[in-house]
Amino acid sequence: MTQKVSRSHVFFSFHPDLEPVLRIQQGEEVVMETHDCFEGQIRNSNDLIDVLDWEHVNPATGPVYIEGAKPGDVLRVDLLKMEIGDQSIMVTVPGEGALGDLIVNMETVLLKLEGNEVVFKDKIRVPKKPMIGVIGVAPATGSVPNGTPGAHGGNMDCTLVTEGASLYFTVGVDGALFGAGDFHAAMGDGEIVICGAETPGEFRFRAQVVESLKGLPTPFLRNEDVVAVIVSATTIDEATSGATHAMARFLTEFVGLSVNDAGMLMSLVGELKFCQVVDPEKTVRFEFPNYVLDQYGYKMN
Ligand code: CA
Ligand code: ZN
Repeated sequence: MTQKVSRSHVFFSFHPDLEPVLRIQQGEEVVMETHDCFEGQIRNSNDLIDVLDWEHVNPATGPVYIEGAKPGDVLRVDLLKMEIGDQSIMVTVPGEGALGDLIVNMETVLLKLEGNEVVFKDKIRVPKKPMIGVIGVAPATGSVPNGTPGAHGGNMDCTLVTEGASLYFTVGVDGALFGAGDFHAAMGDGEIVICGAETPGEFRFRAQVVESLKGLPTPFLRNEDVVAVIVSATTIDEATSGATHAMARFLTEFVGLSVNDAGMLMSLVGELKFCQVVDPEKTVRFEFPNYVLDQYGYKMN
């Protein structure tokens, strides 16, 4: 029977001393349930953001200890199946986010899920695109609040973190201490008012150390179409430079391209995108298409 991690096991920062709630074998499939980013504190449109107990924002479920994962290993996490709740929440927070200077009123909006669409204010239909905002492993040292992204993962709010994607993290501590939360029924790149369609959810995953990828720039992601490096830094400029250099390093060290070929192909078919521009650290990703890697005969494990 598949083991399930209940959403009652939450933590609020990634750090090396987290107590594992479950130990799993590599390759074992596990289901993890998550709260929404408000831990369910906002229930209807009358609950404005000022009701929030901020100590209970951005819960992640876990952590899960993966047997045999050692510091320095690259851990691949396959997101096999994702399900989300039938209702999600958006809020505005005056003074916060990329439009904080314009937004003066708090507002809470409930969005219903109808089939493959998310319905905004009973009228506007947008495609459902479930993704996970907070996902990562414990860093080797220090403590990173779940609202902050970093080299360990965390609040990356990357719209590529969907069903079918594989994420790669560098393990910081024995067992990796993997956790996730903050599902979105849909979210745009940038996360302009600091939220997507915030929803509880659950996902099925398996995790595996990949020896041949030791040294990979992480967090790294692969889906059917692209590979991507995800980099967070204090400024967009730093994150952009970090993501661009990390992709060049992947293409030269792992795929075997020359620096000039890597640069020209990144310039030709690469895509530099924002994940989020509103958190304490900003997150940028550099995407590179798999069809080019295929032509180099590169197959990623
Ligand atoms: Ca988030
Ligand atoms: Zn969120």
